[in-house]
Formats: sequence, structure tokens, C-alpha cells
Amino acid sequence: MSISRPSLPSQVTFNRALSRRGFLASSAVAALCCTGARPIKERSTAQIAITLDLEMSANFPAWEDTHWNFEKGNLNDATKAYSVEAGRRVKQAGGYIHYFCVGRVLEQPDVSWLTELAKDGHPIGNHTYDHVNVLATQTQDLQFRFQRAPWLIEGMTTEQVIRENVRLTTMGLKHRAGIDNRGFRTPGGFSDGLTGREDIQQLLLDAGFRWVSSKYPPHANSEAMKEPSADVYADIVAKQKDAQPFIYPTGLIEIPMNPISDIGAFRTGRWELEWFLEAIERCVNWAIENKAVFDFLAHPSCLGYRDPDFRAVELICSLVKNSQGKAQLATLDEIADTVV
Ligand SMILES: [Zn+2]
Repeated sequence: MSISRPSLPSQVTFNRALSRRGFLASSAVAALCCTGARPIKERSTAQIAITLDLEMSANFPAWEDTHWNFEKGNLNDATKAYSVEAGRRVKQAGGYIHYFCVGRVLEQPDVSWLTELAKDGHPIGNHTYDHVNVLATQTQDLQFRFQRAPWLIEGMTTEQVIRENVRLTTMGLKHRAGIDNRGFRTPGGFSDGLTGREDIQQLLLDAGFRWVSSKYPPHANSEAMKEPSADVYADIVAKQKDAQPFIYPTGLIEIPMNPISDIGAFRTGRWELEWFLEAIERCVNWAIENKAVFDFLAHPSCLGYRDPDFRAVELICSLVKNSQGKAQLATLDEIADTVV
């Protein structure tokens, strides 16, 4: 059981075959016309974001490592080093990584690596202080830490804990690292994002955020350690159209995470790196062909162990570079700017 990805739906399996021609024909814009959310205008180029969530991940580096669920922000040296080197590589390729920081990172003895990333121009967003589940409706569902130490939130409602977790991260980034928040990503990805949770949308608007990254659409996955079939790859690509930006009725912008994440691949599917790279290439190419958004979601505490040579990050940068102007690297702020 993991609260870190409480609703990552990648264990869902589908056997439905989808034709390549069929999903390419349905544009990302058209896909949103009937959802009730306001769609986006057509883009002149694809926007490809590389995002890294700065937290520890259960099951990495060793499968038995689940204590991270209680100390998400206690980053180890390998995770910090991977975060920094990934940023250097993406900047060299002409872009920036959009990082999302768990607030407890700011309690560590040294945060100079984080301040350096921000000085290099990489935006740092808010990922809550303790990695809390913002859709929780009872306090025991908020985070493992509070199950073990409930006195930390005694007398508080879930809404108060969530609001405080967001506020403390904003404050910590500013006080400890001199960093201004650049957007909000929910711990865990939700199949419908924040649809139907206007209270949480409003909480984020009240906290000063104009966009959130919370949606991760359900998609097929392989059985653990089994190579993905053609149908699995096709379904992951087909779900890209369900992971395009839109605006909630409250005015909050949603910038979903695009499948497949490193956790979906390496925890849920227990994939080989080559399978992950194949899926990423197909999805980025779909975004380029459709002038759409691809928001790559990974965790240095997971990806760093499965992809130590930065092949995923380098692959994405090279696909953009070789797109002959059809795609650009973008931060989530830049993507939000194009949502009208
Ligand atoms: Zn997270």
C-alpha cells in the first residue's frame, strides 16, 4: 500500500486494441470538447515539459525500502546529485526542468544544490510539506507520517492540514532557499484530476496558484516484469489526448502528467529501461505530431536508479531538437501561459 501514488491507475489493464490511425485522427483539442471543461486553443508547436518531483520513493533503490513513505523529504545524496545533473543537461539542451519540492527537503542540512538549480533558472514548484493526499476526506488517509504520529495534526480537519501543508512549503522555499513557488503538483496523480473537488481547487487559488498538475489518466500496463505488448504501448499513446491542459470551472488551470511515469513503469510494471524509453519516444512523437503537450513525470529517487545515464532526459531533448521546430521544451508556467 502506498499513499505516494494512491490513485496511480497504471495497474489497470486493457486489452482493447486501438488503431494508430484512429488515435492520431482525434486531436488533443477535440478530445476536450465534451468534458465540460474549457478546451485550449490550438498550439503552434508542441510543448514538451520535463518535470522531476523532489522526494524519496518507496521501493527504490531496494524493493524493500518502504520507510521513505514516512520521510518523503529526506533526500539521499544520489537523488540530489541526479536532480542537479539532469538540470544541467536539460539547460544545455536549451530548456529547463520544472521541479516540485516536498517541503521537508528544506529541513536538510544543505539546500545549496536547490538554490543553485533555481539560480540557473529552473522553476521550483510546491509538492506539499509531507506529501499529503489532497483528496483525502479523513485524516488517516492524508499521509503515513500522520498515521504513526497523529498528534502532529490533532484537532485539525483534513482541509486545515492540507492548507497548512501547502502554506508551509511556500514559506520554507522562501525562507530557507529564497525561492518563490512556481506552481503546484499534487502528491499522487488522480484519474480525474481535481474534477468535482472545487474546494481543493479554491484552496489552491487562495494560496496563489493559477495552475495545478494533478491529473494522470488511467492507462494499460503490462504484468510485472513482462515486456509491454503492442496493445499496451498503443493504449499509453492513446491516453495522451486525456492528458492535455484544460481549465476547471473555478478558473484553475490543469496541466496533467502524461503517461507513463517512471513509477508506473518501474514500480507498477517493473519494466526494463528500454521499454520505458520506447513508450516515452512514442508519446513524445504523438505530442509533436499533434501540436500537443507532453508533461514528463519522473522522480530522481526512482529514475536515478533505473536510468543512471540520463537516457530518458536525453531522449526527450533529442526528440525536441530533431523536430525541426515542431516542438519546444517548456516549463509548466509556459504551458499555462498558452491555455486560454
Ligand atoms: Zn510526489
